[in-house]
Amino acid sequence: MQTYHGSCHCGAVKFEVDADLSRLGDCNCSMCSKKGSVHHRVPEERFRLISGADVLKAYQFNKKIATHFFCQNCGIHTYSHPRTAPNMYNVNIRSLDDFDLQSAEYKLSHFDGQNWETAFAAQQKARS
Ligand SMILES: [Zn+2]
Repeated sequence: MQTYHGSCHCGAVKFEVDADLSRLGDCNCSMCSKKGSVHHRVPEERFRLISGADVLKAYQFNKKIATHFFCQNCGIHTYSHPRTAPNMYNVNIRSLDDFDLQSAEYKLSHFDGQNWETAFAAQQKARS
């Protein structure tokens, strides 16, 4: 486990996350596919918002369970509370400043968010 530093584009939002980034995920839901995010989720105690609470805007849609946070200055989505686990922090790996997606080695798992119920049931089954 390592500490990584993330930020939005204008720098108003800064955060730290303690994570093992050998496993990352992507999702084809209407939101994630437009964001182009690759993500990794951590429990609350491994996420620290350093600055930007005042510029972060929360966006919700559909079932209004997931909460997507983005910077109101520059529009970058830095993290979310995912519908699969609303108490967790789902960090947009592309907003990390000290992790290089192109040179790092990791396993990428695909979540079929277009068929959320089926994908979530399959994920729960795989974990049990
Ligand atoms: Zn910003």
